[in-house]
Amino acid sequence: MPCRRILRPFPILAAALALIPAAPLPAAETGPPLPVPAPPMPGPDWESQFAMLQPELPMPSRTVFEPGMGAAPVERALEIRKGQSLIALLTRAGIHAGDAHGAARELAKVMDLRRLRVGETVTLTLAGGRKPGVSGALSGLRMKKDAHTEVGVGRLIDGSFQSFERQRRLLQTPVSVRGEIASSLYADGVRHGAPAALMLDVFRLFSYSVDLQRDIQPGDRFELLFDRYSEADGTVADYGEIQYAALQNGGQRMQFYRFESEPGVFEYFDAEGEGVRRALLATPVDSARITSSFGKRRHPILGYSRMHRGVDFGAPTGTPIRAAGDGTVVSRGWKGAYGRYIRIRHRGGYQTAYAHLSRYAKGSRQGRRVKQGQVIGYVGSSGLSTGPHLHYEVLVNGRQVNPVKLKLPSGKSLKGEALAGFRLHRDEIDRKLDELAVGALADAG
Ligand SMILES: [Zn+2]
Repeated sequence: MPCRRILRPFPILAAALALIPAAPLPAAETGPPLPVPAPPMPGPDWESQFAMLQPELPMPSRTVFEPGMGAAPVERALEIRKGQSLIALLTRAGIHAGDAHGAARELAKVMDLRRLRVGETVTLTLAGGRKPGVSGALSGLRMKKDAHTEVGVGRLIDGSFQSFERQRRLLQTPVSVRGEIASSLYADGVRHGAPAALMLDVFRLFSYSVDLQRDIQPGDRFELLFDRYSEADGTVADYGEIQYAALQNGGQRMQFYRFESEPGVFEYFDAEGEGVRRALLATPVDSARITSSFGKRRHPILGYSRMHRGVDFGAPTGTPIRAAGDGTVVSRGWKGAYGRYIRIRHRGGYQTAYAHLSRYAKGSRQGRRVKQGQVIGYVGSSGLSTGPHLHYEVLVNGRQVNPVKLKLPSGKSLKGEALAGFRLHRDEIDRKLDELAVGALADAG
């Protein structure tokens, strides 16, 4: 039995492997991302054994050692059907009920089994049988928990199951998207290849400092940097956060760098280390147009001229409305011509009000604390209104002011060591952008 010597340590190694934290891919949140080659292993011997335990290859099993059971373990990939529990999937695959329950109980330590997704693949490793193709005992199983994580169980030498959770091997590639705005920042970002979900983040990021309806002009340019995570076959598994976003708006250039200002806290800063987070958002509704500004106007329903004490954002019914800043809901309910109405009190004597809502969002009841950007309700046409829009007011000490003219305090500025760290990070991002730009030129020939 020449292979016996090699095979024997496998189950123990499998268990050990389960307890070893996954090979570290830099998480999207931890500073400058780099393309990640296969993570280093602690030695050639260990590496070769690890390679044999890679998901692509059958997991070893104790049955390998039983006399007469010479066949190699086999893998079976099964799709979760609608309403099917893991135990049902396993027993249907011919797994002994005791093993099915044992494996499921162990897997539940690393994953919520009530949240199995229909169509998701569960890969079983079955001990080789005497005849090829005959299912043997369950020696392990694994599945995707999310784009970045794999979970599973492996059988130990004593027959019990041991769960594991490890980072999946994804190829991390920095991607820069740059272009000229023809219609809107959002639409043109998507057109140039940025994922729609990231463009919403970009939109929100810039809405702290630019009025995206009034100030953006065709010909303005943008540049973005983010990470793409790909599977071995090249399909995209996920995208990381926006690492950098810049907007050339007329003669003004805005640059935002994502930076960990305190452990676990990621914020965006301009090139000088000033936080871009404003006390109030300039645009409290996603991708809307200003349809009526603050000031005197002829009222569309009443006919006579009067003061318009807010800003109207035209948007389809149901468009989410976001709290312009952190604060407390001081009023929520029907308010005459305003229809469904919410008012939030913020620090510094500011209040914001939102009118004509079609409905309220959860967590926006009177007295509740809300976070900046939190959805508090949805655009509608309730009250005295000619069509779906958000009527938005900013009040200073109880009086409506023009939100567009408001000079609000910006977020925190970095100092000392944090600022020094930020500058290094910023320079690294700039270097990466330059490299990607050179690469793009080379590709273009
Ligand atoms: Zn209005």
